[in-house]
Amino acid sequence: MADKCKVCGAKSVYFGDADVLRKLRVQYFRCPRCGFMQTETPYWLDEAYSSAIASQDVGIMFRNLMNREVTSAVINLLFTSTTSCLDFGAGH
Ligand SMILES: [Zn+2]
Repeated sequence: MADKCKVCGAKSVYFGDADVLRKLRVQYFRCPRCGFMQTETPYWLDEAYSSAIASQDVGIMFRNLMNREVTSAVINLLFTSTTSCLDFGAGH
């Protein structure tokens, strides 16, 4: 099953599978035009976010800032000629 790229609209092609929520096997697709990666239509979001952002979770911003640093380092290391990138639906 292929899906249209959510960034440029080209037909994405199957890339691989991965487990989501440690129980769902989800397909990933990659756009041959722009390289954007996306999953099949997500049907697990209600469950995924039902308890992820609890009022007692005081570490959410810390984790987001830490993930920003790691993501930035990976992008700078692997895509040295890239001057910009898009964070599409990746949370806070
Ligand atoms: Zn695309």
